[in-house]
Amino acid sequence: MTSTVPPGAALPEHPDFLWRTPEPKKTYDVVIVGGGGHGLATAHYLAQKHGITNVAVLERGWLAGGNMARNTTLIRSNYLWDESAAIYEHSLKLWEGLEDDLGYPILFSQRGVLNLAHTEQDVRDSVRRVEANRLNGIDAEWLGPDEVAKICPIVNVSDDIRYPVQGATYQPRAGIAKHDYVAWGFARRADAAGIDIIQNCQVTDFVVDGDRVTGVRTTRGDIGCGTVALCAAGHTSVLLDRLGVRTPLQSHPLQALVSELLEPVHPTIVMSNAVHVYVSQAHKGELVMGAGVDGYNGYGRRGAFGVIERQMAAAVELFPVFARAHLLRSWAGIVDVTPDASPIVGHTPYENVLVNAGWGTGGFKATPGIGWAFADTVAHGRPHPLVAPFALERFVTGALVDEHGAAGVAH
Ligand SMILES: Cc1cc2nc3c(=O)[nH]c(=O)nc-3n(C[C@H](O)[C@H](O)[C@H](O)COP(=O)(O)OP(=O)(O)OC[C@H]3O[C@@H](n4cnc5c(N)ncnc54)[C@H](O)[C@@H]3O)c2cc1C
Repeated sequence: MTSTVPPGAALPEHPDFLWRTPEPKKTYDVVIVGGGGHGLATAHYLAQKHGITNVAVLERGWLAGGNMARNTTLIRSNYLWDESAAIYEHSLKLWEGLEDDLGYPILFSQRGVLNLAHTEQDVRDSVRRVEANRLNGIDAEWLGPDEVAKICPIVNVSDDIRYPVQGATYQPRAGIAKHDYVAWGFARRADAAGIDIIQNCQVTDFVVDGDRVTGVRTTRGDIGCGTVALCAAGHTSVLLDRLGVRTPLQSHPLQALVSELLEPVHPTIVMSNAVHVYVSQAHKGELVMGAGVDGYNGYGRRGAFGVIERQMAAAVELFPVFARAHLLRSWAGIVDVTPDASPIVGHTPYENVLVNAGWGTGGFKATPGIGWAFADTVAHGRPHPLVAPFALERFVTGALVDEHGAAGVAH
């Protein structure tokens, strides 16, 4: 007998949407370009900390479908220089209270990170970084190979591999979080504060009046603005090009991949710049792995197969137990890389256009921290002290913040 119940009628009701779908207004006090983690966090803190709610977040695709959806969610603050340590540690402290602040689960799991050292130079650099971290009040330890094996028993610490493990830095407070929950949590709070999140709305150009931008041209019409806050990650240089502003940003594909679902085997996060891979295990059980950027520039969100192949070879060298695991899927995002592996945050030659970009392979961990500091910068029209060292002018003055050692493969 055929059922009289229409297909799908027995399914539970669709859950309430977490944010509205408003039509764009004619004008806003602040237009944030980019509905990834940074744009949404900036929107949330503009409302929460500064009472600024006449704000639109314009997203060319779907909410948080860019790098926010594609990253491997590693969170840590063990960067070398004082300037980086300050912003990343501020961010880590916000992560520690974020679930309460957003009133939304984000599955933040502080399971620690090991950054392996394989050469004498690695060891010297790593010990230096541990000392620098401690001076900045960041939890950091130097561990020998035996201690590494105690924390992560499946790492191959034997002498008979090509790059034997000589030790590791360890940051116990580092961890992972569920990236899409983080985006939804920020979006939900921004929306509740009255901020308009507008998807399928690409900014294609700017309406310029002297040294000010008075509006953005979008695929859904022109929108007037008091201030423009760019949070467009890998597409920032394309947007600034429309204003004739040159930046030293290069856009690269960055790949990641996951294995099939496994029982819990990997209790922490392990990274290796020299062997060139990093691994954690997601809450669901997939091993999450990645490495450095694909070497060429591009905007296609796919990477070269050879890069993935090398990552797998590196992973199996460090973790022989992975040799039998199947690769489930791989993907790529487009990351914006600067010459000193540090971000660009602050003013542009246009008085009311502020930029937040250049987080390259490591901006997920910065999401609450930069949202907080960028919102403050936008609200007061001057760089917050946490972002002041990351001004665009540093590429003219030479005051670079070189974080290649802490950022290499280590996201
Ligand atoms: C594979 C991979 C692994 C990574 N792993 C880590 C990690 O483990 N830890 C870590 O800290 N970081 C990691 N990152 C880096 C991190 O994802 C990024 O630095 C961070 O997400 C950038 O900020 P965002 O979330 O705002 O970017 P995005 O989510 O990319 O947001 C930018 C948004 O701007 C939108 N946009 C672009 N142009 C326009 C336009 N013209 N108009 C309107 N909207 C526009 C895009 O569609 C996009 O949604 C990784 C990145 C990748 C790709």
